[in-house]
Amino acid sequence: MRIANLEGRAVLVNTDGTLGADLAASSDGLFAADPALLYPRWGELVAWYDGWEPAWDLPLRPDALGCPSPRPRQIFAIGLNYAAHADETGLGRPDGLPPVFTKFASSLTGADVVVDLPEGDVDWEVEVVAILGSGGRDLAEADAWSAVAGLSVGQDLSERARQLAGPAPQFSLWKSFAGFSPVGPWLVTPDELDDPDDLRLSCTVNGEVVQDGRTRHLISSIPHTIAELSRVVELYPGDVVFTGTPDGVGMGRTPPRYLSAGDVLVSRVEGIGEIRQVLR
Ligand code: ZN
Repeated sequence: MRIANLEGRAVLVNTDGTLGADLAASSDGLFAADPALLYPRWGELVAWYDGWEPAWDLPLRPDALGCPSPRPRQIFAIGLNYAAHADETGLGRPDGLPPVFTKFASSLTGADVVVDLPEGDVDWEVEVVAILGSGGRDLAEADAWSAVAGLSVGQDLSERARQLAGPAPQFSLWKSFAGFSPVGPWLVTPDELDDPDDLRLSCTVNGEVVQDGRTRHLISSIPHTIAELSRVVELYPGDVVFTGTPDGVGMGRTPPRYLSAGDVLVSRVEGIGEIRQVLR
């Protein structure tokens, strides 16, 4: 199943991502229009859907797609979660669970947005984003995939100059400017993916491939990350997890390369789709 947030309404999406069907209308009001209200009832939704084909009658304009989980109670982001990326940053490979930070909720957007560049050095990070369909504490790693509603494509945009200045790196704030956390274009349930533990993710700047990795190289896999987070915090349906970026970011280049006004950033995950940001 694929679910998008089309102008604030939950919409089922067809396999090629061209058309949708309004979920509240298709279910005769069984499910609410507001996508945020689906996650606490995710198991019920999956059981109801069961591969059924609605009338696909809504065109899906990318710029009308919001974040599939529009009001998560928590947003987690994982740093340095691919060894080659940890190496290129010079920050070193993590020992145990990689660093965890948040991207503040006001930075969340949908798939196709214009992002105003703040002062500083703005860098790209394509990531697979997991959205939770159930929560709890002390989840077993073996059960963690069943807590995931689905996966989306995300960008963890970052202002490096201030992120790395000062006595300790400060990830959360400097990765939370307006538009710095686009997620989309929709959520795809793990059962639709050939292998949800081995997805290709890539991004281009003005058509040039700058990142191209696979989630099988994650230091902390998606289920391991969810299980570890749940040992500390309670997880809630609708929570969003940015799972980390592979190598190829701008700060790892010689000389470093950052985004400029007019650049077009396209991020893709195999089996899910792509999101696109224009920098201004
Ligand atoms: Zn990141």
